[in-house]
Amino acid sequence: MSGMDTGLLAVNPGSVAKAAALLRRGQVVAIPTETVYGLAANALDEKAVERIFTAKGRPQDNPLIVHIDSMEMLPMAARKIPKEALLLAKAFWPGPLTMVLPRTARLAPSVSAGLDTVGIRMPAHPAARAVIAAAGLPLAAPSANLSGSPSPTTAQHVLADMKGRIPLILDGGNSPVGVESTVITLVGTPTVLRPGFVTANEIAEVLGGPVAVAAAVTAPLAAGQAPASPGMKYKHYAPKAEITILQGNLAQFSHYVAAKATGGVWALCFEGEETEIPVPCVTYGKKNNPATQATALFSALRTLDEKGAKTVFARAPGTSGVGFAVYNRLLRAAAFRVLEL
Ligand code: AMP
Ligand code: MG
Repeated sequence: MSGMDTGLLAVNPGSVAKAAALLRRGQVVAIPTETVYGLAANALDEKAVERIFTAKGRPQDNPLIVHIDSMEMLPMAARKIPKEALLLAKAFWPGPLTMVLPRTARLAPSVSAGLDTVGIRMPAHPAARAVIAAAGLPLAAPSANLSGSPSPTTAQHVLADMKGRIPLILDGGNSPVGVESTVITLVGTPTVLRPGFVTANEIAEVLGGPVAVAAAVTAPLAAGQAPASPGMKYKHYAPKAEITILQGNLAQFSHYVAAKATGGVWALCFEGEETEIPVPCVTYGKKNNPATQATALFSALRTLDEKGAKTVFARAPGTSGVGFAVYNRLLRAAAFRVLEL
């Protein structure tokens, strides 16, 4: 599917109005959000939502997140809203938290990919909010990458994947968070299905009770095991290179990599470590600063592909705060290959 002209416009009142007009006509537009860029369409229009699946090459059974700009929009998408959802909305919206709730009949069926629930989020990014408000519609928006590729954190990443597939990309600069939203289901025991900037501990504090984390966040699904969230069963964030995460200190890492150094072998490391590592490096943030790792990771994975890396050894991130989300994305990019040094 190519041939469509793809416009790339900086965010301003004119481009926001253009995006809103396209969305109201059932078209797909890529928009910046604080997490990653989203591929948006009218969540109430089945044909429009189907265009998202086509543009991404997304499997039909992987549901989309619905983005709203106000609590007034919430009943358009969700019903039987529990008090926990209102507490979490008050604490974390607008922001990088998606809640899975029972869905309304009004939503386009494909949004939920056959489930009777829907993931809903109120983004904080001013451009995303302006587009939703101007369209006057809840917008279904998965990450704006081709299915299986790292999520886009710049408009250029979106262009690389979506050129010829969608009519417009709004350029709002770098995504400030850099990893996708935390997804929590509130149907049954509150359970984190995907870690993000908002942590399970922060959520538990607001709810005043325990919050589970789905096992599939840090371990592969067993053969035949049904995922709590359809996205868990797909290959994700995967560059062309084979990535292995090495658990150990920098000296151990350098020693291990030295024995493997041949053409096509790269390291994914923290800033300032390049001089200690005997193969070419791409960095992803600072060692003790998970927020910088989150903003850099997906871009680094794309860079490794551009450099033609065949085998990549990655320094392991910590797992506290947003570091847990970074670890989860890197684990998936590495197809769960982890080596203790
Ligand atoms: P993306 O839109 O690319 O950020 O992906 C959305 C993620 O949220 C995927 O991993 C989906 O499987 C998950 N998700 C969306 N809606 C639901 C739902 N109703 N129940 C469980 N997981 C969901
Ligand atoms: Mg995605």
